[in-house]
Amino acid sequence: MSIRVTVWGENVHDQRHQLVKDIYPRGMHSCIAEALNTVPGIKARTVTLQDHEHGLTEQVLDETDVLTWWGHAAHGEVRDDIAARVADRVLKGMGLIVLHSGHHSKVFKRLMGHNCDLLWREAGEKERLWTVNPGHPIAQGIPAHFELAHEEMYGEPFGIPEPDELVFISWFQGGEVFRSGATWRRGAGKVFYFRPGHETYPTYHDATVKKVIANAVAWAKPECRFGWGCPNVPADKALEPLTVHGGSVH
Ligand code: ZN
Repeated sequence: MSIRVTVWGENVHDQRHQLVKDIYPRGMHSCIAEALNTVPGIKARTVTLQDHEHGLTEQVLDETDVLTWWGHAAHGEVRDDIAARVADRVLKGMGLIVLHSGHHSKVFKRLMGHNCDLLWREAGEKERLWTVNPGHPIAQGIPAHFELAHEEMYGEPFGIPEPDELVFISWFQGGEVFRSGATWRRGAGKVFYFRPGHETYPTYHDATVKKVIANAVAWAKPECRFGWGCPNVPADKALEPLTVHGGSVH
């Protein structure tokens, strides 16, 4: 069975700015989904902020193995209950790939438990990404280093909890460095943050970037779905015989 991917796009810059429209005529989310749909075993669809419940209804999430998230201008417009719903799905096993300015999304900050702050500069400078974990599934087929001719700079310190695994580090022409590909496990789910993707550069048309995202989808697919809860286990259902001492305050 194919990995079912939902590509979430904020779709604000894509509508308002001619430069972004010129690079991504059908929106950044469509570019990302079209690339994923060329990969055997992946079936991607798109939803956007403007859709009913931001396109993230319970039914859509039931049919989603991996969610990708790109947002920037409208993080505050994402409903808190829907951000909580998405984060809960990750804890239950859904994969999540957070792209570029999604670092400040409600979903990512909630799952990281941190501010996810960083340095930034828009100078259209060169970014060189180094593959620092060549054995990782997300790095397969990715060269030891690759370059994007023009990108926004993100610099350290990046306000994230220590990653479980670091896959890529970026160097920028201005001298800064950044942890640009990092993974975490949250509950039963896997999270990958991937830095490149400023809206005014053709980053999602880059073949290596497309390959990283496709690899990340394959890596992040659920290994299980686990329904959390707080069930009571009464003494007479304990695995070993128990004598109850004292009373309950409930
Ligand atoms: Zn940006």
